[in-house]
Amino acid sequence: MQTNSLYQEVILDHNRKPRNYGTLEHASHHAVGHNPLCGDRLDIALQLEHDLINAISFHGESCAICKASASMMTTAVKGKTRVDAEALIDEFRDMATGKMDLNDPHHLGRLTVFSGIRDLPTRVKCAILPWHTLHAALNSMTSVSTETDDEPTQAITGNHT
Ligand code: ZN
Repeated sequence: MQTNSLYQEVILDHNRKPRNYGTLEHASHHAVGHNPLCGDRLDIALQLEHDLINAISFHGESCAICKASASMMTTAVKGKTRVDAEALIDEFRDMATGKMDLNDPHHLGRLTVFSGIRDLPTRVKCAILPWHTLHAALNSMTSVSTETDDEPTQAITGNHT
């Protein structure tokens, strides 16, 4: 399968030139995601206007898989509605955890390079963390961890002040 070399090429490319990397001025939503198993820590900020993701950026300390996933996520959801972004979050999670049949209709596009991650259980959380953090940001939860619950979408540590 060429999927493997494409995967490596995409990961390398997004690590060399991460898209939408940095901080965002005038962010309306923001969350920090943490994956203690790997040490990934991501800060995602976005600007939601009329339910449309106008701008999004990320920064933090993370492994190559997490960084590439975050970079691709920001380009995938930029310009999308909140509802479409949430649908993509669900699809990505289902793909990464092996719950999705890629022959079924989906909107993942190039994100399917991450489909092989399902065979690497220790890296699944690295790939999902950015999506998980985006979900938290969209729902005004400021902090999220992959290790607070078995179900990633519910693994929310309510750090509300
Ligand atoms: Zn990682």
